[in-house]
Amino acid sequence: MSIRLSSLQSISANREDKKFTSNIKDKPISQIYNEHVFDDDAIKKYVMRDAYELLLRSIKTGQRIDEKTADFVAIGMKNWAMDKGVTHYTHWFQPMTGKTAEKHDAFFRLNADGQAIETFDGKLLIKQETDGSSFPNGGLRDTPTARAYTIWDPSSSAFLQETSYGKVLCIPAIFISYDGNSLDLKTPLLKSNHALDKAATAVCKYFDERVSSVQSQLGWEQEYFIIDENLYNARPDLVLCGRTLFGNASARGQQFDDHYFASIPERVHDFMIDFEDDCLMLGIPITTRHNEVAPTQFECAPHYETSNIAADHNQLLMDMIDRIAKRHGLRVLLHEKPYKGINGSGKHNNWSMSTDTGENLFKPSKTDSSNLRFLTFFINVVKAIGDNSELLRASIATSGNEHRLGANEAPPAIISVFTGDDVGAMLDCFSAGDDLPSFDESLFEIDLEKICHFNKDSTDRNRTSPFPFTGNRFEFRAVGSSVNVSHPITVLNTIMADQLTKFKENVDSRMAHGAGTDDAISDELRKILSECQDVIFNGDGYSQEWVDEAARRGLPNVKSTPDALRAYISEGSKELFLRHKVFTEAELEARYNVMTEEYIHKLEMESRLFEEISNTQIVPAVVEYQNLLIQNIKDMAEIGLGQESDVMKDQLTEISHHLKAMMGALSLMGRTRIEVLKNETDYEIARDYYEKIKPLFSDIRDNADALEMLVDDKIWPLPKYRELLFLR
Ligand code: ADP
Ligand code: MG
Repeated sequence: MSIRLSSLQSISANREDKKFTSNIKDKPISQIYNEHVFDDDAIKKYVMRDAYELLLRSIKTGQRIDEKTADFVAIGMKNWAMDKGVTHYTHWFQPMTGKTAEKHDAFFRLNADGQAIETFDGKLLIKQETDGSSFPNGGLRDTPTARAYTIWDPSSSAFLQETSYGKVLCIPAIFISYDGNSLDLKTPLLKSNHALDKAATAVCKYFDERVSSVQSQLGWEQEYFIIDENLYNARPDLVLCGRTLFGNASARGQQFDDHYFASIPERVHDFMIDFEDDCLMLGIPITTRHNEVAPTQFECAPHYETSNIAADHNQLLMDMIDRIAKRHGLRVLLHEKPYKGINGSGKHNNWSMSTDTGENLFKPSKTDSSNLRFLTFFINVVKAIGDNSELLRASIATSGNEHRLGANEAPPAIISVFTGDDVGAMLDCFSAGDDLPSFDESLFEIDLEKICHFNKDSTDRNRTSPFPFTGNRFEFRAVGSSVNVSHPITVLNTIMADQLTKFKENVDSRMAHGAGTDDAISDELRKILSECQDVIFNGDGYSQEWVDEAARRGLPNVKSTPDALRAYISEGSKELFLRHKVFTEAELEARYNVMTEEYIHKLEMESRLFEEISNTQIVPAVVEYQNLLIQNIKDMAEIGLGQESDVMKDQLTEISHHLKAMMGALSLMGRTRIEVLKNETDYEIARDYYEKIKPLFSDIRDNADALEMLVDDKIWPLPKYRELLFLR
């Protein structure tokens, strides 16, 4: 029996003997939330008071902790963890693989007398040493000079991870090389937060002297696909690449619009409850779950948090989600485009800025008729996006997202901002120097008995914009589902810090020339608003008209990843990141190298898998069916029905035609790959993969998919789209 047919059989077998229930079903969520986190309550209980207060101050103000305090924290952390049955600890960090990394060490040691003890101290808490050259480093580390360090990040709480193998204390850490270069994604994010804090706090002081810190906030929405584990295992393309390289569109796709928000299939629901239990105990404040647009596509979203914590939590979630799915005989696909012809997955990044006095800087005021603080932060965002759209595009560039951007369901590769009607009208009045429309909520009245009236929203949704304003935050929708959000958020924070710094200099200079504060701010805002009109677009971002219009406006539309990534190493970007101490030039070059290499490796892997699956699975199946047809044609002739077998001959001709075309494209791809690898630079190799190899993927696939519709169903080796997408 083919692996496809046996996998189909195993699904039904699986369903009979498994029933899943949540282990903490009867408790209110608030009781289990943070149970596996060394949170405020745990610190209070396990750490001596003086050290506890110093740690809190450090988290709040960024003040460095001394080694003695670290000792007390370490002992408390160890005791808390051991009380929960933990035996090992690890620094938990985010190398440039985009994933998380850990190396477990036991608390257990032998003392001078050879006795077994459990120990942990400040030194071990603060710093661990590791081999930097074994992680992607983009040329920052040579193998012989490999030393690198992970350093404790006190701003993100330690937590414990439990698997069937045991429990480990995870201590969030940054990752730097021997000479201090960042080798991870957390360090630049923390630095960009610091830059934004400094620049935004200074601007806030125009409006309120009490503000002493500003933090960027992030609420991500994670989309993903679910698939039965047996089917997954029968698809080498899903196992290795996370996406299907082959597969003819199912007759039923998403055309009925009946999956979005529909009732969640029971089996998936069980998985979600299990998964959410673990998230909540780890302090990931998951609140939302629903079916997404494509069949078997789902979404989860937490309450928003400070962006460093939110980024850690998203990484942790991506690490856990598939592990927990396996307990349910399911697998999770985080790839941006697992299936052709239906929606792909994104990770919308809801981004805002808030002050330590509790104000959201993107929330329009209902009482201040000038709304000057809101306009200040809003207009500066638009200007920052307008001036740095290529860098923002680079921050979301991956081989997976390349399938999504510009495809029908996702925002195009053109970066623009949607302001919404109300704010749009407000900006128009502000530009013209007129009174602003009031932001009083108006009532939405429904002409139906018993149905309550409610307050109208100040903006509609625009799902076609990559960067819409949604009433009190911006939603960066173009981010891919599988990426570490630190990439886009580091860029957003830095370009905003830069813009606010320039803004403050110009306002101060106007004031030095005699202008009052409000006039200086308003005049400067009008000036920059007039400079960034082109990036504002409130229409349909999926339409061809917008693509044409954007070209007329001179907005970049960079479709390929290799070209998009180059924005990271432009002179302007290098100066920008250096100005705000987020990246040195060497660090930026290294990141560019790592991302370009990753693109090459991914496309090379896909290309080789196209060959393997075609040659070892598809061709044999097709030949088997060809032989059946040939035998049938011969047999028909033998009994005098040669003429009647014409239809079979046509069928055989069509099959042979597609087989020949597929094999022709495969062989051309093999030869082209050799040529492509002769290029000197990684950029050229990556560019040629995009321009010369990727189109051949389509040629191979189109013919294979046509064969899938012609060959005997019993023989076809790969589970089909209708099976992947509709067996629940
Ligand atoms: P949608 O309707 O856009 O799918 P969701 O409920 O799925 O909305 O997700 C909205 C996300 O936006 C949540 O993560 C939520 O916490 C986050 N969010 C809400 N307010 C803010 C804010 N001020 N700053 C950042 N994120 C926010
Ligand atoms: Mg959502």
